[in-house]
Amino acid sequence: MDCIFCKIVAREIPADVVYQDEELMAFRDIQPQAPKHIVIISKTHIISIAQLTEEQQEFIGHLILVARDIAEKEGISNDGYRLTTNCGADAGQLVPHLHFHLLGGRRLSDELA
Ligand code: AMP
Ligand code: ZN
Repeated sequence: MDCIFCKIVAREIPADVVYQDEELMAFRDIQPQAPKHIVIISKTHIISIAQLTEEQQEFIGHLILVARDIAEKEGISNDGYRLTTNCGADAGQLVPHLHFHLLGGRRLSDELA
């Protein structure tokens, strides 16, 4: 499949992976918007949260807890961080493969990566 994040999952293109398990992979964003900018993706090709089904409730809960743990490990838990996902064109979603941005390490204002 011609999807950049699927290629990262398949290790066809390199990424600075900070976490992975059966369902998720997390790596450093190639164009970081903050000192800590990690992208957390589903290993399967789900386009965005718009495509999620009831069966994936647990998966999404798991993703949020993994994000919390990565934030802890990256040392941004105390000062704070932001977890966002862009869904579709108006949100500026560039990569049509479900991903969450974990941002921290500086004071964040109104921008949402
Ligand atoms: P979005 O606009 O929400 O679709 O965000 C896509 C994000 O993926 C952007 O922050 C990009 O910098 C990031 N990105 C794109 N290609 C790569 C890559 N090969 N490795 C790491 N991050 C990437
Ligand atoms: Zn994909």
